[in-house]
Order: sequence, then structure tokens, then C-alpha cells
Amino acid sequence: MSSGQLSIYNSLSGKKEIFEPINAPFVGLYVCGPTVYNEAHLGNIRTFLTFDIVYRYLTHLGYKVRYVRNITDVGHLVDDVDFGEDKIEKRARLEKIEPMEIVQKYTNSFHHTTQLFNLLNPNIEPAATGHIIEQIEMIQKILNNGYAYEVNGSVYFDVKKYAEKYNYGELSGRRLDELLEQTRENLEGGEEKRFFADFAIWKKASPETIMKWNSPWGIGVPGWHLECSAMSTKYLGQKFDIHGGGMDLKFPHHECEIAQSVGSEGISPVKYWMHGNMLTVNGSKMSKSLGNSFLPMELITGNHPLLDKGYSPMTVRFFFLQAQYRSTVDFSNEALQASEKGLKRLLSSIKLFDEIKPSDKSSFIVKEIIEKCKKSMNDDFNTPITIAHLFDGIKFINLLKEEKETLTSEDLSILKNHYKTYVFDILGLLADEDDANPEILSDVMEIVISLRKKSKENKDYATSDFIRDELNKVKITLKDTKDGTTWEVEK
Ligand code: AMP
Ligand code: ZN
Repeated sequence: MSSGQLSIYNSLSGKKEIFEPINAPFVGLYVCGPTVYNEAHLGNIRTFLTFDIVYRYLTHLGYKVRYVRNITDVGHLVDDVDFGEDKIEKRARLEKIEPMEIVQKYTNSFHHTTQLFNLLNPNIEPAATGHIIEQIEMIQKILNNGYAYEVNGSVYFDVKKYAEKYNYGELSGRRLDELLEQTRENLEGGEEKRFFADFAIWKKASPETIMKWNSPWGIGVPGWHLECSAMSTKYLGQKFDIHGGGMDLKFPHHECEIAQSVGSEGISPVKYWMHGNMLTVNGSKMSKSLGNSFLPMELITGNHPLLDKGYSPMTVRFFFLQAQYRSTVDFSNEALQASEKGLKRLLSSIKLFDEIKPSDKSSFIVKEIIEKCKKSMNDDFNTPITIAHLFDGIKFINLLKEEKETLTSEDLSILKNHYKTYVFDILGLLADEDDANPEILSDVMEIVISLRKKSKENKDYATSDFIRDELNKVKITLKDTKDGTTWEVEK
């Protein structure tokens, strides 16, 4: 059996293609990062996990990956249309602090979250506000090439002109005539645009706008889609290997990215477009605005109406990996509880290796397990099938332990290494939840303890008891002393 080469489902062609990097062994990977105006919810985490697996597996295959994941700290407007308030500024006004304080606060929180879920850091994490010059230069090139026009201090991408020569809609499969129907309601302020599908690449700032910059067209703000084009070009070149993001970014964000790169450089920027599917709740996309989202803290404490109990970040990681990234995952307590059990079983089977005695007779099964795992990961990062193969192997490991099967010491160490590599390096699971980050756990516990204190002060003893009891279930004991509350993890 051959495990073959890596193939990736390319959203641009709509089929799986053999992965052939533009400049092997180097691989450029760009992932649209968070808009840092609030805390990342579990749905966002699923998407970032998808690309964490892509990064880990490519690295495992020996590629030298440059992984760029941006921070959107300006330009992302409420409702994603060209005429609205900046999401970060809106939040800053609500919290009565500087937009950059919002940016810092939620960038820090995002980093805590990525550590909690054991997501590897990108090699470069560029911020949109740090690349205004590059964005202005790109606008200038698009204007020079005739694919944009200036109106009253704003610059719009000329979709109609672009579509005369290129295929606008090639990624999302949308046709301009269909778009007209869908965007009718969003035409507010559209009188500046020559064509309904044109999009702002530079927006004139109103006097109240706080974050704004000087440009050849006056004081304004770059359009949201532009930052990813400018920063991916800067760090990965005009054409790079993989661009990822959630499915909901295909249109308009990624479609516009292609148009901007083609409009400025004349080159379609990405060889493989990858899109992760959504985390849903009762079939609807998890999103903050629908009120069906939960945050890492709520997940850990179980303090949310949708949660029967708290779940560890590794349980959630494992739960997500039990679905292929292109399928939706519907949240359910039952599935999370099954993942909790499954993960325990997988991790405890790895511990069994140290108890197995080698012999002088081996089994072909070792090779078979290894080849099957490679094959499934090579098949567009199919983690659920890979996990199923790892579980098949557990039966064999148990037989070895019971001395009903035997392996030479060499094969035993190959199998053990295989499990460790797949479970810890590729799937990124942690053997011991405490490994996640002791500092994070302390931070999280501080928040939990203050929540409990607040509920006691409000005489909401049901909540304070709930917090204590739920922590007990995950082996964390709280001790109330006259100097405050301390906590301890039972070993
Ligand atoms: P944002 O911070 O809103 O720009 O989103 C960050 C990333 O999370 C984007 O790639 C989105 O596509 C993705 N995302 C948003 N909601 C969900 C969801 N419910 N499930 C999976 N990914 C999501
Ligand atoms: Zn982007």
C-alpha cells in the first residue's frame, strides 16, 4: 500500500490537487487572522485550528513553511459593507478607551486563547495598521493600471472594468448578475460607486474617525480586503502557495483579494485556496451576533446555557479534529463528552508502551498503521480518518500489553514514535492538560475566582457553588481563607 503524496482540496478549482509548492522546500502559508475587537469564540478557534494542522503537517513533511497570520486592527467595518463604522472604533467608543487599547487587549486575549488550544504561533503576525504605506502603494498600482477610480477622497475598485478582462467570481462562483440581487439592500451610500459590486480600497475618513491616515487622496482608512493582499505580497511574494480562512471569507473578502492582486501585479496571488467549514449550533453558524457563541472561559467553566458542563481545551481540540475541516461541525454536549472519553483512551494507550515487553517476533501491522495514517493525512489533511486508524492501533497495543501479540524492540519503538509524532506533533494534542500553559491556567483561575467572588457578593450562591463543584469535577479544589481564595490541582 502506498501512502502517496499530499493532495489539497483547492477551492479555486473545486477539486483535490497534488501539492506541488512553487519553490520547494519553501512553502508560503497565509491565514486571515482575527479582527481584534472582541474575544475569539469557539468557531474562530476551529478555523485557526484547521490551519494549525496544515502548518504542523507540512512541517512534519519537511517543508520550510513561512506561516503568516495577520491581525486586523483597522478597516473591518460593521456588517462588512463599505459604509459603516469600524468594528474596533465602535468597541472603543462603547468601552470609552482608545482603539489601540482595544486592539492590544484583544490581541493579548487572542494569544492566550491560541496557547490554551496549543495552536502554534505563526512566523509573522503583521498588523494592518503597521502596513498602511504598503496598502497605499498597492492602491496606487491598481489606480495606475486602470482598475480603480477616485471619488471624493475615496478609492473604489472598478469591478466592471476588471471583469472585462478577468474572471471576477472565479473563487466564490458568484456571477455579477446574481450579486446584484443579493446586494440590493446594501447599497446605502452607494451613490459614489459606479457599479454596485465595486468595493472601497480607500475610504475617506469622517471627522469623528479616530484611526485615519494621510494619503494621496486625502485623510482616510484602507479597505478591509486590502490589508491581506498587501501583507501577503510583502511577506510571501506576488504568488504564494496556500491561503486559508473560514468558508465565510470566500466572498467577498478572498474574491476581492484576488482582484486586488491581479489588478496591481497582474498575477493571481495564490496557488491553493483552502477554506475551513463552520462550527454550527443547531445548524446555524456560531457567531457573536446570533448570541449562540461561547468563549474559551465559558467552555472551561461550563458557565453557559448551552453547556452541560465544562470541557478542557484539549477535549475541544480533539472534538474538532474528529471532523474533516471541510465539513461543518455541529456543537453538542454528547459529542464533546464522547471526545473527552476518546481522548483519554488515546492518551492512556500511549502510556502502555512503556509496559510492553519486546520479543523476537514482529507483526506487519506496524507498517500498516503507519501507512494508513500517512495516507489519510495526505488526503487533504483528513484528521478523522487518521484518528480512526490510531484507534484501530490501540486494539493492537492492548494485545501487545496482554502478550497476545508481539513486536521486536525496534518495531516497538517505531510504533511508539509513530503514536507520539501523530498525537503530539501533528494533531497537536497535549499529554497532560497542565502542559497547555501553567500561566494561562493561573490567569484563567484568577478570572474564575473573581467570578465566584462576585456571585457571592450578589448572594447568588447557586452560581458560586456551581463554580466550586464544577472545578472539583476537573480536580481543581478551591480553598477559602481569610486572605482570599486559593486553588490547587489534585495530582
Ligand atoms: P473574524 O475575527 O471575524 O475576522 O474571524 C476570524 C476567522 O474565524 C475567520 O477565518 C472566519 O471565517 C472564522 N469564523 C468565524 N465564525 C466561524 C464559525 N462559526 N466557525 C468556524 N470559523 C469561523
Ligand atoms: Zn484576509
